[in-house]
Amino acid sequence: MTSQEHIYNIPKIDLHCHLDGSFSLDFIKSYSNINMKDEELIKKLQAPADCDSLTTYLTCFDLPISCLQTKEGITNGVLDLIKQAAEENVKYIEIRFAPSCSVNSTLNYSDIYEAAIEGCKLGYNTCNIFSNIILCAMRHHSLETNLKVLHSAMDYLGHGICALDLAGDESAFMNTEFIDLFKEAKRLGMPYTIHSGECGSVDNIKVALELGAKRVGHGIALCKDSTLMKECQKSRLGLELCPTSNFQTRAVTNINTYPLRLFLDNGLLATVNTDNRTVSNTNMTKELHLSLEKLQIKEEDLITIYKNSIEISFADDNIKNQLYKLI
Ligand SMILES: [Zn+2]
Repeated sequence: MTSQEHIYNIPKIDLHCHLDGSFSLDFIKSYSNINMKDEELIKKLQAPADCDSLTTYLTCFDLPISCLQTKEGITNGVLDLIKQAAEENVKYIEIRFAPSCSVNSTLNYSDIYEAAIEGCKLGYNTCNIFSNIILCAMRHHSLETNLKVLHSAMDYLGHGICALDLAGDESAFMNTEFIDLFKEAKRLGMPYTIHSGECGSVDNIKVALELGAKRVGHGIALCKDSTLMKECQKSRLGLELCPTSNFQTRAVTNINTYPLRLFLDNGLLATVNTDNRTVSNTNMTKELHLSLEKLQIKEEDLITIYKNSIEISFADDNIKNQLYKLI
């Protein structure tokens, strides 16, 4: 049996990790006005294991977002997350957050991007870990706001910002409502991943594929459609699975039917990620350990998952080559 210690020590990649769901308690205490005991704070930040839906899960983000309203908060928030990842030997991480939730009278989009990229640079200098930023457009925001996120990011593409995402309540806003946003991203050459198939909608995965997404966040519902599975395999669509989070949001309710094994057996580019380290009380070591213990994953699959992560990552070839060398 593979020990947690062994998994802790092997090189790992985390492609789906939300900044605002992954802060340490120390960071939250330093950058929010909150004054409460650790146990109470944990209750506020962590989704219960029997969380009833994605909608409830999303309420855990209000306090962390309040820490991302200054350049210093954003830089140190990114660094806080990178340090946690480096500590468990993650070698590359793509960190995502919604810049439109940080814009205020003293902070514009460029300030936000530069602050986040600075956090990545400090992370590389202090922990020797590669990272990039994915910007989340939000489902409940207007097209105008989401286009602003995209357009203001173009100067930073390839310089710390690597892609666009669509996050928020998938059950309330379908992917078809965002066709104009992703058409524009495609026109500009901004790659994108779209949270899809987390709330049971296989149609959202189909739409994401048609829109030219390189990856989808979660993609759990794909297991319901074998024809679409084949199309996704042919198109080399990346799947960013996040097991603990997927159980908490009820994307999967029966541990025996978690589709990671099925996806790998069908040649899909499935990966394992954390989603939200604090909200889900997890890290890459725990996710891979869970995969081995409960999700029918064997030790040799860990190499496949690592290689899949490199292939579907938004990293440049230099970083990809360095990550391959670590196998
Ligand atoms: Zn997510």
